[in-house]
Amino acid sequence: MKIFEKRKIPIRMYRILIPHKTHGYANAAEFVDEYKRRVKGDVVDGLNRYHPTNAKRRSILTTLITNIDELLTGHPVVLEKWITKFQKNGTLKYIQANPDFRQRLEKIFNYKGFRQSKLKGGWLGRIMPVKACLYCNSQFTLNLKKAGRPAYTFDHFFAKKDYPFFSVSLYNLIPACGHCNQSKSKKDFPLAELINPHIDSYDSFGIFETDKKSIIKFVTSKYSDPNHIQLRLKLKGKKDVLKSQKFENQLKSFHLEDIYENHKEIVGDIYIRAKIYTTKFKAYLKSLGANNPANFLDEEHINRVLAGNYLLSRDINKRPLAKLYKDISKEAGLIK
Ligand SMILES: [Zn+2]
Repeated sequence: MKIFEKRKIPIRMYRILIPHKTHGYANAAEFVDEYKRRVKGDVVDGLNRYHPTNAKRRSILTTLITNIDELLTGHPVVLEKWITKFQKNGTLKYIQANPDFRQRLEKIFNYKGFRQSKLKGGWLGRIMPVKACLYCNSQFTLNLKKAGRPAYTFDHFFAKKDYPFFSVSLYNLIPACGHCNQSKSKKDFPLAELINPHIDSYDSFGIFETDKKSIIKFVTSKYSDPNHIQLRLKLKGKKDVLKSQKFENQLKSFHLEDIYENHKEIVGDIYIRAKIYTTKFKAYLKSLGANNPANFLDEEHINRVLAGNYLLSRDINKRPLAKLYKDISKEAGLIK
């Protein structure tokens, strides 16, 4: 377990992944209340039903019950502050040294039940405008379970094995694919060292780029072998140590370079599309709407259909690989 550094993140930086208005919530607070209404009752009941004789356990339970709202719905920075507190007062050490207690807490906070419940994890997964993994953007977050029942996968930014009391904390749940969830579970990062999608945008950190020479080779060899294309995901904008470290950890932890090495065909196809879908063709598609409003497509829609994926920063979590499509479509000149 790492020692978490103290640092401040301005509150305006929190990115809330829930489009409150479109789902009938006036604001974030109203949504958070709804989350609490669905999740808190069972957790509090579980805590109240547990009567250990051990004084340390009783004191930990009292702290958890007293601060349950903050623990369940606090922002990531608030959760990290709790980690520091629990480190200082020996709670974490006690939990680690007593696996039966840790398991009891895991049962009470019951992530398994949360994930399987249509009214809890199912509801949260449906309501978030996120279908692609927030760590790799290459796979869906919805998986089929053994019985064929679909369930959303959430990664715990602060691992539930170390911090069982954050098992169903709203801002500790990151919609992720199975691969990233597994890769991440082996590591423990503080907020300062990994991109947290509730705070930072993966898109604002990195950009996909191809090597010009390799593209020329691809284009002049009749688009025959996209495997020669050299693709990299590089840090965007000004370099600073903190940003570089977070980005590096993101690349390594989720094997992003290996994943995207397998998607060069897509890069090649985007270059072919950029060649075929000329400005004239796009103007023709636009003109269809002038004669018949039923055929109207706005520019954004035309670009999305031609590229085959979402192309705006705000939409990259809606479909796997949207970030790759967006960056390369821009590079290839398919979009401005
Ligand atoms: Zn992933």
